Amino acid sequence: MDLLERLKKTFDPEEVLSLAGDLVRIPSHSQAPGRETAVARWLAGWLEKNGIDVMLRPVVEERPNVIATLKGKGGGRVLMLNGHLDTVPPYSMTIDPFSGELKDGQVWGRGSADMKGACAAMAMTLVALKRSGIRLAGDLFFTGVINEELKSEGSEDIVLNGPKADAVIVGEPSELNLSIGHRGLEWIEIEVIGRAAHGGRPHLGINAISKMAAFIRKLETELPPRLNTRAHPLMGPPIFNLGVIHGGMQPSSVADRCILQVDRRLVPGETWQSVFAELEEIIGLCRAEDPDFNARLRRIPDNMATMDHLPMEFPLDHPLLGILEETVEEVTGRKPQRTCCTGWTDAALFANQGKTPALVLGPGTIAVAHGAQEHCPADQIVQAVLVYGLAAVRFCGKAD
Ligand SMILES: [Zn+2]
Repeated sequence: MDLLERLKKTFDPEEVLSLAGDLVRIPSHSQAPGRETAVARWLAGWLEKNGIDVMLRPVVEERPNVIATLKGKGGGRVLMLNGHLDTVPPYSMTIDPFSGELKDGQVWGRGSADMKGACAAMAMTLVALKRSGIRLAGDLFFTGVINEELKSEGSEDIVLNGPKADAVIVGEPSELNLSIGHRGLEWIEIEVIGRAAHGGRPHLGINAISKMAAFIRKLETELPPRLNTRAHPLMGPPIFNLGVIHGGMQPSSVADRCILQVDRRLVPGETWQSVFAELEEIIGLCRAEDPDFNARLRRIPDNMATMDHLPMEFPLDHPLLGILEETVEEVTGRKPQRTCCTGWTDAALFANQGKTPALVLGPGTIAVAHGAQEHCPADQIVQAVLVYGLAAVRFCGKAD
């Protein structure tokens, strides 16, 4: 019997779909009491019941990562499957966020696509391989991590304290395509400093709002042509978004301060330091035209813990890439595309700070992630188990 058929016989599709539903039914967003703790315990219990070696390792506020291990016999490459256990809050969802219902070929609810469907598939993969009796040469890990939607402390902890692998698959929704790169992410605050004065005598002040307007005009004319010269073949050019602006006290006062918050997406070769140097240059251009122009830059560290959010780029000559392409085609009958994630993912932490090649491959689409009717195709969750399982055998090697 071939490997695929052998793996298919180890589990009923219903089993992984009900696991995905169970994970959705346990809220693990930032407003849920204990956050990911309940879902992490539940998932660890499920793995243990199915004979998998699993531990809970607290990261912040006793909220634990789930670390499951399928020990290889030795001598093979080590693979890690990684998924985050937190979700964004339900916000204004128009369906029951925590039904976990299987209907019309989809699993429904918050986190079904981003990314409890993938976490269920990853956990099921270890169980399926264990049941198959296939002994791997290298180890296979599943790490279910906390707080990816906010600061990524969960994956930071894995990078710092192990386990270590030769490659990592992060199960963010990619419709089972191979996301082999994405931009890095930096949040920056620009503060323009003016001088307050009475609105009836505005010539005595320095209006920080109008100085900020000059800065924005300069930014929008100077920056895009420079960024376009740095376009990456897959990711495109670096980009920026003016996200938040605040300034002034009230209409009858000259604004003494104006703050702009910018989201800047980096391509390989850029760092937050190079991004800051470029913005300083634009500030310098404003100052050269206007001696009253005064601004300073600050990093906004709200979206990260300790590790910079650099770009992710998977090496095109890495053996896992060919293995996954072949495996996805074998399981789904469709050749997967090489794509780019629009957002930043934990894969970048493994790739940069962890020095471990990492890519993104998971069921579901980013188009519905965080959305009002989040759902994930059931067939893709089942196929993900087979893709992860076959790829693990091919990457880690068989012991017998
Ligand atoms: Zn996600």
